[in-house]
Amino acid sequence: MPFGDILGQEHAIELLCHAVQRDRMPHAWLFTGQANIGKFKTAVALAQKLNCSKIGEDACGKCDFCLQIKEENFPDFLVLRPEGKFIKIDQVRNSLNWLNLHPDQAKKRVLILDGAENLGREAANAFLKTLEEPAPNTIIILIALSTKQLPETIVSRCQQIRFRPLSPEITEYILRRNTDLSEELVQLISSYGMGSVKGNLANSFEIMQTVQNTAIKWLTTFKSETLEDLLRTCEVWGKSKNEEWRFLLDFLETWFRDLTWIRFGLPENKLLNRDYTLNVDRVRELKQCGKYFTLHQIFEIFRKIKESRAAIDLNANKSLAIESLCLHIYRNAT
Ligand SMILES: [Zn+2]
Repeated sequence: MPFGDILGQEHAIELLCHAVQRDRMPHAWLFTGQANIGKFKTAVALAQKLNCSKIGEDACGKCDFCLQIKEENFPDFLVLRPEGKFIKIDQVRNSLNWLNLHPDQAKKRVLILDGAENLGREAANAFLKTLEEPAPNTIIILIALSTKQLPETIVSRCQQIRFRPLSPEITEYILRRNTDLSEELVQLISSYGMGSVKGNLANSFEIMQTVQNTAIKWLTTFKSETLEDLLRTCEVWGKSKNEEWRFLLDFLETWFRDLTWIRFGLPENKLLNRDYTLNVDRVRELKQCGKYFTLHQIFEIFRKIKESRAAIDLNANKSLAIESLCLHIYRNAT
């Protein structure tokens, strides 16, 4: 997929094209930003641009080199991904040996580390030396959600590009182009994605809707009797293999983001939770819920949602984490 096919990341692509044109390519890039916004596709497009057999502003996407890179079977192109939870030391050693070989056919040999935050400490250390003294004609692209989980020694040796969340128009366009989802589903998934394309959510439509409807019923009334119901539901959701707890966190994040949006008087057509069916009025429900909170409380809850997610990532009990979050929201509702 050449640069021309990547949507919503003009800023990143401009920086990369600029570096290619001026032949000022750093030997290591670090692409950061949330999942599913085009970081990996951009890395592939860069490898194609550097090696395409046709000369042009962008890779052609059709020559043998471009196609082999896309299929990940080009001899001078390698993608490293976590095996299990981590990118292992052996994977790194093998890839570094490979990187030191002279390119077979390519102008530039390209190594991508997709999920660089999953480099173990030993694996990261093994990498450092190569980042300091790279072999000529090699480019390393590290892809990570943020720099937070990466050693500073790695970050400082790479040129970082921050990828931006996609606008709702672009995520919806991509979903419409790449799937045959109904319009209702396109809008729902776009709102859950919070600036990313999560097309795989389509299979979970009914679960997402149940979670959303249950939460909205509660968020627009805050009755104590429904609180008990909700806490019981949280207990079940935290244990379910359908991962309702994840949908709840995703949804609450979009909801409280929209509450700040409304509070600042920003345009309603940019809300993530919009009216995607004829018989619901999401904006009215958002405004109804917004009456319960000050702006400060909304920010506080937003922070708490992120905190709950981080705690679960560190193996906290899922039921307890979402119960405690709902209680926090309830106590703040006045
Ligand atoms: Zn090509």
